[in-house]
Amino acid sequence: MKQFQIVYKGEKEFLKELKRFRKKWDDIPKMAFQIFSDILDENTVMKVSASIEKVFPGIPWFGCSTCGNLVDCRLTPQIAVTATIFEKESSRFKIFRYDTQENSMEQVAHKIIKETENNPWVKAIELYFSFPKQSTTKFSEGLKNIRPDIHIFGGIAGNDDIAKDVSYVFSDEGGYSDSDVLAVFYGGDDFYVDSIKATGWKPLGKKFRVTKADGTCLQELDGIPAYDVYNKYLHIKNDDNFFHNTLEFPLLYDYNGVIILRVPMASNPDRSITVSADVEVGSTVRLSYGDPKTIIESISKDSRPIKKFCPDVLHFFSCVARRTFWTSDEPTYELDAFKDVAPSVGFYSLGEFLRADNYLSHHNVTLVIAAMREGEAALSGMQNISEATTISKVPLVSRLATFISATSLELEEMNKKLMTAAVTDGLTGLYNRAETQKRIGQILADIQNESLSLIMIDIDNFKKVNDTYGHQEGDNVIISLADIMRDEQERVPDNISAGRWGGEEFMLVLANTDLSAAALIADNIRQRFEHISFSVSGTQTISVGVTQANSNDTFDLLCTRVDTALYNAKKTGKNKVVAL
Ligand code: GH3
Ligand code: MG
Ligand code: MG
Repeated sequence: MKQFQIVYKGEKEFLKELKRFRKKWDDIPKMAFQIFSDILDENTVMKVSASIEKVFPGIPWFGCSTCGNLVDCRLTPQIAVTATIFEKESSRFKIFRYDTQENSMEQVAHKIIKETENNPWVKAIELYFSFPKQSTTKFSEGLKNIRPDIHIFGGIAGNDDIAKDVSYVFSDEGGYSDSDVLAVFYGGDDFYVDSIKATGWKPLGKKFRVTKADGTCLQELDGIPAYDVYNKYLHIKNDDNFFHNTLEFPLLYDYNGVIILRVPMASNPDRSITVSADVEVGSTVRLSYGDPKTIIESISKDSRPIKKFCPDVLHFFSCVARRTFWTSDEPTYELDAFKDVAPSVGFYSLGEFLRADNYLSHHNVTLVIAAMREGEAALSGMQNISEATTISKVPLVSRLATFISATSLELEEMNKKLMTAAVTDGLTGLYNRAETQKRIGQILADIQNESLSLIMIDIDNFKKVNDTYGHQEGDNVIISLADIMRDEQERVPDNISAGRWGGEEFMLVLANTDLSAAALIADNIRQRFEHISFSVSGTQTISVGVTQANSNDTFDLLCTRVDTALYNAKKTGKNKVVAL
């Protein structure tokens, strides 16, 4: 594979360049032209393609509007035209195009899968999206069952003003469109491909759960408005600079195990934030930070497999947020790691796509890199790449962020322990009395929809155990009874809570359980306990009271009734269950 750049500096000169370029061959080789344009004007782009058609009739061309063109790791203004030449007989290349006004995202995905079946030679699919008007999650879901070995990568076409929700794709078949998807197939026996992503943004601090969201509108994190998280932890104000300020701290979003970045684009009056692409309720997010040194180092590390691959050409899909982040004159500084690897072409995008672990993810703030090659990798190239990590000074921000993450992780773990301790009885590990009471109260409050039964247990003649065999043996007996109750709880953890009510008294709270079912459970516990033979104190027994709540019950009425049932069991001989 070979790649040539033809710089566009006006129509006439371009045509001359093309003609000079054409003279390289007697017969036109197998090739395609890529056009990236940061000029949105259709006429200008169509003049470029008309010139190509004139000098290279029948040769396919395709491309998109961009937020900046990348040629050989440098920003190239206006229009960048690249010719890719396929040198191997077996190499195949085909462009497919889908209108998203006529097709849903699922339909487009389905049609692409069909084409992979019709064209089994395909090894890579490069996607060019015009600005999507439908959810891209549906597209990703639709591609789930595509052949597992196919690499998929690409980007959303750009715009000179990222606030505008429009961008264009174009190709020889179908012209210029703001609603199409291009799927470019590459493959053949001698074609090889690899694809990776790199971001360089690192996690910062604690995890948040997405508790409320709708598509790209992120409403709540851990039950508080998403904007408040940015305000509280980073003091980012809800003003014109919101986007630029949050760009240094986008959200790291865990979706299907793939870590994806989402940038808050705007904060809304209801304190929700609009993020750069979908987020789903129930997923976890963390703030992240981007700092120049960390990003450069991380990209140089992530680029190693690409260098080892010895590509003939590289394609970049780099988020426009990265261009904005590197506010210096040279936003492509971070691409220097690839400069000597292979000729490259790409663009600043409004979203990036990469398939990893069989799932196509829609990324933001990300650099997606596709490496392509015809034939085996050159050995010399592989030898040049050293495995050793470059030991350089870790940036201070990076150390501070690690410190924050480590301390917040410790706090999270401590919090979890404290929360468990606050509801647990120390001796038995069952719920304590306060938690047991709380659970009774909760179900009782919803007694119209959910039935509730209580089982109250008291060990018989327990004073004698203590007096005869000592307190330690008394504790053993208590723990053994608790273990049986825990067993019951684990059988149906959604319905049964086992608690220590005090001393050697216990309470089982049973949701969705009527009196007769509760009485059966109670007698089962009684029998199991009765059959234990304690090495020191022999066999022991329990008395049990059971009752079911009715709609007129108060907490006190209910507890008094189960207590009376237990009292009756004691009074009438112990080692029995009395239901009331
Ligand atoms: P009954 O059959 O009528 O229930 O008689 P009983 O002897 O069991 O009487 P009661 O229920 O009043 O006895 C409770 C005893 O439990 C008194 C107390 O010393 C003992 N106890 C309370 N908590 C603990 C504990 O955590 N460990 C031990 N070993 N004993 C406890
Ligand atoms: Mg007692
Ligand atoms: Mg007792």
